[in-house]
Amino acid sequence: MNARRCPSCRTYVEESDLRCFACRGDLSKGGPVAPLRRPQLLRTVRKDKTASSALLVVLAVFGFIGVSTLVLNSGIALPARIGIAAILLLGVLAGVIPAGPGGSAAVSRPILKVFAFFGLLVVTGIGLIFALVLIIFVACATGAAGKW
Ligand SMILES: [Zn+2]
Repeated sequence: MNARRCPSCRTYVEESDLRCFACRGDLSKGGPVAPLRRPQLLRTVRKDKTASSALLVVLAVFGFIGVSTLVLNSGIALPARIGIAAILLLGVLAGVIPAGPGGSAAVSRPILKVFAFFGLLVVTGIGLIFALVLIIFVACATGAAGKW
C-alpha cells in the first residue's frame, strides 16, 4: 500500500492508479508537486452550503450534548467541570446573542464550528465504542464456536 500525491491537486492516490480520483489528472506525468489546491470534488461539496450548515448544526448539537455530559459526569473533578461549563456557557452566549447588526453570523459560525468539532469527537468516540463492542462480540462469538 504505497501512497503518493497527485501532481495536480496533491490528493493522496494509490501507486497503481493511472488517474487521480479527485481531479481526474494524469498521474503518469512527473515533475514538481503542484501547490495545494482543492480538488473539484471538495469544491462541489463546499458549494452546497445548506447541507454543510445542516451538518454543522447536527455536529454542534452532538458536541453540545457531549460537553454537557462531561459537565454532569461526577467522575471528573469539580474544578474541571466548572471550567468546561464556563466554556460551554461562553460558547452558547457568544453563539446565541447577536454581536451587533450584521455581526452575528460572523461570530456564531466559528462558535458553531467549535461545537461541531466537539461533536465530531463525540461521533468518532461513539463510532469507536461501537467498533470495539463489535470486535469484542466477534471475538467472543468465534471463541465460543471454537470451544474445547
Ligand atoms: Zn488530483
